[in-house]
Amino acid sequence: MSFSADVKKELAAAKNGCSFCLGATLYGMLLYGKCVQGNKILFSTESDDAAELFATRVIEMTGAILTIHEPESGKRPFYMVTVEDSRDVSRLIDQFELHDIAWDKGTLNRRFFPNPCCMEAFLRGVYLACGSMSDPQKEYHLEFRAPNEALAQALCALLLENNLHFKVTSRAGQMIVYAKESAQIEDTLTRIGAVHSTMSLMNLKIEKEMRNQVNRVTNCETANIEKTVNAAFAQVQKIKYIKDTVGFDSLPIPLQEAALLRLANPDATLSELCCLSGRTVSRSGMNHRLSRLSKIADELRESFEE
Ligand SMILES: [Zn+2]
Repeated sequence: MSFSADVKKELAAAKNGCSFCLGATLYGMLLYGKCVQGNKILFSTESDDAAELFATRVIEMTGAILTIHEPESGKRPFYMVTVEDSRDVSRLIDQFELHDIAWDKGTLNRRFFPNPCCMEAFLRGVYLACGSMSDPQKEYHLEFRAPNEALAQALCALLLENNLHFKVTSRAGQMIVYAKESAQIEDTLTRIGAVHSTMSLMNLKIEKEMRNQVNRVTNCETANIEKTVNAAFAQVQKIKYIKDTVGFDSLPIPLQEAALLRLANPDATLSELCCLSGRTVSRSGMNHRLSRLSKIADELRESFEE
């Protein structure tokens, strides 16, 4: 099941805070599910959980007669819950004041979500009707497909009132209210009652961050190794130059030893060279000797070039 479907499953099973919450969720679904269509009320969704909740609420609150259309086997999931009896339809429209004007103006009637718990229940209904999320493994994106611009702006304002920062855009003629920041998405999911989904989102984020950190460390280590190898290569070149021009006999014994050790172990790090020397010299001592060899080679080159 997709992350988005998991969220809907969790929301459909969310507990309500008070008796108004039941109506608030149904109001959110009716308004943002674009349900009033001519002389019918029709809720369509890919989520069986959302379809079941819609049907249950309509029956509980109005006793209306419904037909539920289930997807054919093998086809993509698509459920339709329809209220066809005209008396039931008018009763629902009157009860939730879903007249044309409410749609056009994007009026959210707060009578249907009087308490904070009901506002959350309302947003839950809105998500069940038109919300979706991208796979958080790929990107953070939560969106609501609002039925029109007025309702998109109204939803955006209501979310902002709850300190949830969303933006409005249009995509292929469809009004979209969306957020892309993981913190906003987590806050939204928690607020509307999808606490488990929030937890798994946070876990995914931690996993992702840890993976990135491991990559960063590996990159950093690779860079350090490269630096060591480059430095060692330069040293080898200079030591060879000394050998070919004046030979090692001209060098003090400790420098001769260091030069031979480096030539024999061109890939070794400083610490490894110390080990190979039988620990007769410290890391800084070895570094000092190699720097002196480097300097001698530079001086030789200068004197020969003159
Ligand atoms: Zn409530």
